[in-house]
Amino acid sequence: MADIIQLLPDHVANQIAAGEVVQRPASVVKELLENAIDAKATSIKLVIKDAGKTLVQVIDNGIGMSTTDARFCFERHATSKIKSADDLFKINTKGFRGEALASIAAIAHVELKTKTEDQEIGTHITIEGSEVSSQEAAVVPKGTTITVKNLFYNIPARRNFLKSNTVETRHIIDEFHRVALAHPQVEFIFLNNGSSVFNLPASNIRQRIVNIFGTKTNEKLVPVSEETDIVKVEGFIVKPQFAKKSRGEQFFFVNDRFIKSPYLHHAIHSAFEGLLKDGAHPGYFLFLEVAPESIDINIHPTKTEIKFEDEHSIYAMLRATTKHSLGQFNIAPILDFEKNPTMETPYGFNGKNPKAPTIEVDRNFNPFNSEPNFGSSNTSFKQQPFKPKSSATWEAMYVGLENDPDNYRESQTGIASIEYESEEVTGSFFESEEKKPSDITFQLQKKYIISPVKSGMMIIHQNLAHQRILYESFLKNITIKEAISQQLLFPLQLHFSTLDVEIIKSIQEQLEHTGFGFSSFKKDLIEISGIPVSVKESEIKNVLEKLVSDINNELPEAGFSQNDLLAKSLAKNLAIKTGTLLNIEEQEHLVHQLFACKEPTVSPTNKPVLMMLDISDIDKKFM
Ligand code: ADP
Ligand code: MG
Repeated sequence: MADIIQLLPDHVANQIAAGEVVQRPASVVKELLENAIDAKATSIKLVIKDAGKTLVQVIDNGIGMSTTDARFCFERHATSKIKSADDLFKINTKGFRGEALASIAAIAHVELKTKTEDQEIGTHITIEGSEVSSQEAAVVPKGTTITVKNLFYNIPARRNFLKSNTVETRHIIDEFHRVALAHPQVEFIFLNNGSSVFNLPASNIRQRIVNIFGTKTNEKLVPVSEETDIVKVEGFIVKPQFAKKSRGEQFFFVNDRFIKSPYLHHAIHSAFEGLLKDGAHPGYFLFLEVAPESIDINIHPTKTEIKFEDEHSIYAMLRATTKHSLGQFNIAPILDFEKNPTMETPYGFNGKNPKAPTIEVDRNFNPFNSEPNFGSSNTSFKQQPFKPKSSATWEAMYVGLENDPDNYRESQTGIASIEYESEEVTGSFFESEEKKPSDITFQLQKKYIISPVKSGMMIIHQNLAHQRILYESFLKNITIKEAISQQLLFPLQLHFSTLDVEIIKSIQEQLEHTGFGFSSFKKDLIEISGIPVSVKESEIKNVLEKLVSDINNELPEAGFSQNDLLAKSLAKNLAIKTGTLLNIEEQEHLVHQLFACKEPTVSPTNKPVLMMLDISDIDKKFM
């Protein structure tokens, strides 16, 4: 047989390698940002269009490249970062495999403009499908600009495989967060389709977290700091009461590189044990520093997984440190040492000595006087006895409250609302309707509703049944656009990250059709003036948070499937939970509503809502 083995031409090898390094536009963003960091840039600008599918551009003010290097950097295994295999064990840069630019150039139209400090004139190179199409001298500032256009133009299969713009943009933002968090001392600017998404000035890590995730984040952070022989940890954990139902704000960095580590995540999770509500995930931003030779970064082409020499000790240390910080923040106030302490003092008191308070005694005060007599003529403090001007004004304040069973009961009985807040008021899910004979349903284990039917008995899953009911009702409201909204007496102000605000804004119209009312959207704040009747005010934050996370995870573009997702998410998060005790009327109401549904037998997520047990099946058990 003739010899059949041959070496693959470079451009084919590069395309194959590209498959590993560049999965989607976000991979290009990651590689280019990391190159800019490695080039010691202090200011980095990221520009994307169409979720990076048509354009990813990174502009840095780093060290730049000489003309020869500019030409050479697109070769496979061309790197300035390591020289020998030994160097693999003391890596201080993000890149070292020398394959990112070669890979990107194999599958896109790439343009490079670069100049070093001591060059007079820079270099401009264009390259397509690994072929250099032009090279010329150019007047450019110090630093590097790389422009990547039409990603996967020559691999239609890959291009078609890309997800919607919303999903791909989300991936890009995730990569951006990771690099921006790891390098707070670098300024970052991020433009998406011409509008500014982030403008992050050089700062410290706490400030960077706040600039990315919103002002409210500041008060949620608890500092973590510990140093041992093998690892140094700095950073923040999110106070347990602010833990989110969605995963997301979980960041480990090792030597300024974002990494994924289920094992170390477990250490944090277990430190939070007992402090988190069901289904909540701890948030953390932790920066580990270890000796470069004690880790192996080279186990994965994207370098997000690494091997530690002494993983067990790091686990134990992380867990203990987190526990320690969690225990401390309750008693010790959080001190931000990087803050100027004089900023805390009101301006007029700055630099002045405090004055000792004087004591004044009111000698005319008689505690047995029936009319309160606060102070006499020599004090300026007078209190008017509290009297409503007329009953009409008082009634006006209560308009709209009668529909709320909690408030109604409260005004009738005068019992403080606090008692009702902690109580599980499942009755509020239902409007009270006509009564039915009460002996036809039975609740089992606070989970199932059992109801006799002609042929035997029916077992209904209460949570899934309610999901079906809410789902159909939300979907109907969104489609026919006429939900009833309960107006809030005081608008509810909720803080979200800038991005979450954007997401909620993008589905504002649909949300309004379910009964939400929005009075304003600010950068990281949403003001809510109305809510769907089936929702309690205290649940709103949670419901919206989960909705955002569901949208992030599924993200249909628009139209019907988006409405469907919205209805599903709201239904899932608002349905009566397993473990909720239902009284007879509530059980019956649920059954009635269920059978008024179009599809009572399956949940919105396609799980069976009910099952039948035939009398003959039961009979068999007794034979
Ligand atoms: P690696 O980062 O693994 O070395 P890359 O393919 O990403 O491989 O880059 C190849 C080389 O090109 C780098 O080692 C570096 O010398 C040079 N380079 C890439 N991007 C930049 C940049 N933004 N500024 C200066 N030099 C750069
Ligand atoms: Mg690189």
